[in-house]
Formats: sequence, structure tokens, C-alpha cells
Amino acid sequence: MEYNINTIRSYFPILNEKVYGKPFIYFDNAASTQKPLQVLEAEKRIHNEYYGNIHRAAHYMADKATADFENVRQQVQEFINAVAKEEVIFTKGTTESVNLVAFSYGEKYVQVGDEIIISEMEHHSNIVPWQLMAKRKNATIKILPFNEQGELEIGKLDELITTKTRLITVAHISNVLGTINPIKEIVRIAHKKNVHVFVDGAQAVQHQKVDVQELDADFYAFSAHKTYGPNGVGILYGKKELLNEMSPYQGGGEMISEVSFSGTTFNELPYKFEAGTPNITSVIAFGASLDLLDEVGVDNLASWENKLMGFAVSELKKIEGLRFYGEAENRSSVISFNIEGIHSYDIGMLLDKLGIAVRTGHHCADPVMQHYGIQGTVRISFAMYNTKDEISQFIKALKKIVAMLK
Ligand code: PLP
Repeated sequence: MEYNINTIRSYFPILNEKVYGKPFIYFDNAASTQKPLQVLEAEKRIHNEYYGNIHRAAHYMADKATADFENVRQQVQEFINAVAKEEVIFTKGTTESVNLVAFSYGEKYVQVGDEIIISEMEHHSNIVPWQLMAKRKNATIKILPFNEQGELEIGKLDELITTKTRLITVAHISNVLGTINPIKEIVRIAHKKNVHVFVDGAQAVQHQKVDVQELDADFYAFSAHKTYGPNGVGILYGKKELLNEMSPYQGGGEMISEVSFSGTTFNELPYKFEAGTPNITSVIAFGASLDLLDEVGVDNLASWENKLMGFAVSELKKIEGLRFYGEAENRSSVISFNIEGIHSYDIGMLLDKLGIAVRTGHHCADPVMQHYGIQGTVRISFAMYNTKDEISQFIKALKKIVAMLK
């Protein structure tokens, strides 16, 4: 399909809103993307036409909701090219997916003295669950550092991995630096030494085609709300043979096979990891955002966003005193920067008054801030509906702010 930006923008009603009387420009897409009409209408349709609790009831509404819910599981399977539908588990978000694996994998595979390797550029949600697990299991956390460009020093992996290493966890794309990490290469090194790999794909699936079989990672997580879908839905992909062996994460309805006071047996995949009533409506509506990604084409939007990135970087470079954080050769749709002598919060606040939403602060990645010895950055991040004209408006506003505050 030809990239029709006007059609794409027409799907997102919020883009027509005004903020403080100014046209709304949204550059905080890495935090959460806006929702298209397709998703909003799907949510309404479900409630108006066929709502019921899934899996267990024997009536029309529940059957229809169940079928649609399970169709979305298949859609996700196809979206990431998983081998089987049962390898797709619905969670609340990337954070819950990480917590699930840190707990259930930890219970099964991590012993006292074992090691987990975490990259230095992780979001807190891909650090803290592993720290909690390490504390519980008396395991050790080791760090895979990144260099000044914001590229992981994967040459150090060989010496970091020991016979005690169980798992490496790493973001596919950094939410601060925009670095696209070489997941295939990391997986190749890890698997040679029988180490598993967990990939945090929260910033990746909405920007590039992800094929979990090609990456060969053991786990892959992402959130629907960053992928034009509703809040409260996450995906955990895991290889069947690992998920089958892992302990359940939460107990409750749906995840059991039989319960008695003398013992309980657990349901099969994926239900073993989906205790209780899931976020039925939002999972089904998430299907509509996957349809939209199909319609637009992930490759098409990637090349659109790359052009936006190139333009934004070249314009930002012209601003005196501006420093980028993250200049990896391979990067995507996130730009972090500071301007000498001006606090990032002041820039964010003044941009907001001009109708432009950006993010400021530590971006839930304190170790990245510690690496550079800073408190925070300004971060802009793009989505399928952003335009070059919006970037020009932003650059104009930024120059005005710099002139005012310097
Ligand atoms: N991982 C990365 C790289 C992220 O950018 C985020 C959110 O910003 C998360 C994990 C957490 O995602 P969620 O809050 O949807 O669970």
C-alpha cells in the first residue's frame, strides 16, 4: 500500500484536538500510542453486541466472545510468527510478562549461585522483577554494559557468561537510546552456551517486523497500548517446551485442570498462565490494531518513521549546545537529548504550552541516566501518524524556548 498519511491520521480522532489553543502534536509515542477508530469501535461493538465471560460458559454470547478472543491469539501468533498459538500468553502488559517469566522461570530453572545477565540499558520493568527473583533464589545479577554511542558491548558476553549463567535479558529496542540491539547475535552466543534469552520487545513490534522464530529468542514480551491497541493487555511469547516446564505464575480459575484439597492439577498452555478473567474486551479490540498494522504494513511505517528520524536528527543537530544520548548506527524512532544549561523539565513544560507533548525525566531507566551522569533527558518518539511538518513545528518551538531560556 502507498503510505497515505492523511488516511492514517484520519483514523486517530485525538490528533484533531487542540492543546492550549494550539494544534496537538504527540511525540510521546514510546510511552503509549494513540488509539485508532478501529480499536475504539471494536471496544464499543463488543459491549453492545456480544459480551460474556470467555471459555467456561455454555451460551451464545460467551461462545462468540471466546471465539474472538482466541482469534486474536492466533492473530498475535501470525504477527510475530510463533510456531504455535499456545506460545502466546495474554498478560496485563510487558511488565507483567517480565514478572511472569522472572517468577515462573526462576522457580524452575534458577538455583542458588546461578547468574542472570541484564543489559545496562533496560527499562526498570526489565530489571526489578529479575532482582526480586535473584533475591528469592540467592542468584546473582551481572550487567552487560553499553558504550558511549549507546550500543551494547556484546563482545563482553563471552567473558560474562559462565557455567552458572541461566538467562540473558535484553530490550530489542531501548526506550531511551533508540538502539536496536542485535538480538539474533545475542541469542546465537547465548544458545551456544545453553543460556536462555528473554527479549523485552515493548519498543520494537510497532516499529519493525518481528519474527520470533528467526530471532530464536526463548521469550519475547510487548504491550498492546504501545502498539495502537488498548491499555491493560500484554503479550508473552515463550517457547512451548520452556513454558510447559515452568511453574504457574498465579493461581485461580482457568489455570487449573482439577482442584481438590488433596492437590490441584494445572491446565495446559496457554491457560496455565492465564489465571482469572482476562481483559476480554481489550484483547479482542487489540485484534483491530493488529489489523491496522497489517493494512499500513509494518515495513511501510518503518520506512516512514526512519525518514522522520533522519529529518529530526539533522534539524536537532543544528541547535547549539544540544547533546544526543544514543547515537547507535542501528536505531529507531526514539531520540533523547539535552540542551546545555537548560533543564529537560523546563523544555518539556514549555513545549506542552505550545501544544507539543514530549517526555522528560529518567524514562524508567535510571541505569542509563547513571551511565551518562545525568538526571534526565527530553525524549521525542514517533508513530505512524507523525509528520515532517510536525517535526518542523517542534524544532521552531524548541528554538524559541532555547532563545528564551539561554
Ligand atoms: N520495557 C520497555 C522498553 C518500555 O519502554 C516499557 C514502557 O515504557 C516497558 C517495558 C513497560 O511496559 P508496560 O508499562 O506497558 O508494562
